[in-house]
Amino acid sequence: MLCPETPANEALRQKALDEQELLDTPAEPYLDVLVRVVRDLFGVKSVLISLIDQQRQWFKARIGADIAETPRSVSFCGHAILGSQMMIVEDAQQDPRFKDNPLVTEAPHLRFYAGQPLYSSDGYALGTLCLLDTAPREWSAKQQQLLKDMATLAEGYLQLRKISLQSKELRDELSREQRKALLGPLTQLWNRAGLDHFLAIEQLHAKEHNLRLGLLYCDLDHFKHVNDNFGHDSGDRVLWQSARRISDAMRPHDIVTRSGGEEFVVITQVHDISELEQIAERIRSKIGDSPMIIEDAELALTISIGCTLVEPPEDIRQAMQRADKALYHAKRSGRNRVSVANPSSSTLAPA
Ligand code: GH3
Ligand code: MG
Ligand code: MG
Repeated sequence: MLCPETPANEALRQKALDEQELLDTPAEPYLDVLVRVVRDLFGVKSVLISLIDQQRQWFKARIGADIAETPRSVSFCGHAILGSQMMIVEDAQQDPRFKDNPLVTEAPHLRFYAGQPLYSSDGYALGTLCLLDTAPREWSAKQQQLLKDMATLAEGYLQLRKISLQSKELRDELSREQRKALLGPLTQLWNRAGLDHFLAIEQLHAKEHNLRLGLLYCDLDHFKHVNDNFGHDSGDRVLWQSARRISDAMRPHDIVTRSGGEEFVVITQVHDISELEQIAERIRSKIGDSPMIIEDAELALTISIGCTLVEPPEDIRQAMQRADKALYHAKRSGRNRVSVANPSSSTLAPA
């Protein structure tokens, strides 16, 4: 196996990548949509936006792949960023660089690879938009142009993202090491510690914008059945898809977390309780309206949601308890529903 060489401009390349504030950040809906569309367009098993970091490739967006990173030494993308053209491997078993690569000889048993380098605005290759499949494929000039066009869109998004306020705020608030500790690899959402971190910050932001802080406590219904009937790996894939669907229902600046197991807490700034209730209904529909496709099986899932507004000067933990209680109420009332806890009267109203 041939390990990828280090690019001649590696130090500057790494610096350009670090400046993007992309590594160890949560999944982002626009990139999730992009990899989904690209997968449908080419009919391949997996699509990644892979970033080449010092010792690893880390996936900013992924579909059809269960892991968050691999060592750089075995990565195809480490090779792809060395050239100025797209890298195509029609059959990895016939390619001396890859035929004994563990990603080829063992799971996920890759055979086909197409990767277009993604560049920073000053021309450094940060990683790739790449297609992977477990069967060899022939590659046409038309497909080459299509993948290049999709990579241009991804690149454009990343470049605009860099100059947006959002990535600046992230950089100001958290170092990369801190971010890493707050991110869950399974769903690529903020974890429980991330939730605690952002609660206080978001409360300040809500106050600055003259808005209210809304909490949505979401819990998948009868999730244990998925594990029991389809296995733990399928359960993990349902969690991944649920995370994407919940994020799809939210706006880019909302904070979506996986607070534990099959529980997701969302923090959002709203004008009033009815806006919060609408958002909760949107999440409920995203999960319940269409089945999830797991290993060719269709799985119908639902979610229950408890929501409330934080009522300053109350302690946020008190509001969290109220949302949790509302969730319990939604479960007891039959699941697949939203329950709103009114802060002032502490009463519960099924939505
Ligand atoms: P309810 O509608 O009352 O919420 O029922 P439920 O089955 O969703 O809830 P319960 O608390 O009984 O079960 C949650 C299950 O979630 C049990 C646990 O094995 C599973 N779980 C927790 N974390 C993970 C994970 O990371 N991966 C997988 N696959 N399962 C997980
Ligand atoms: Mg639970
Ligand atoms: Mg549950």
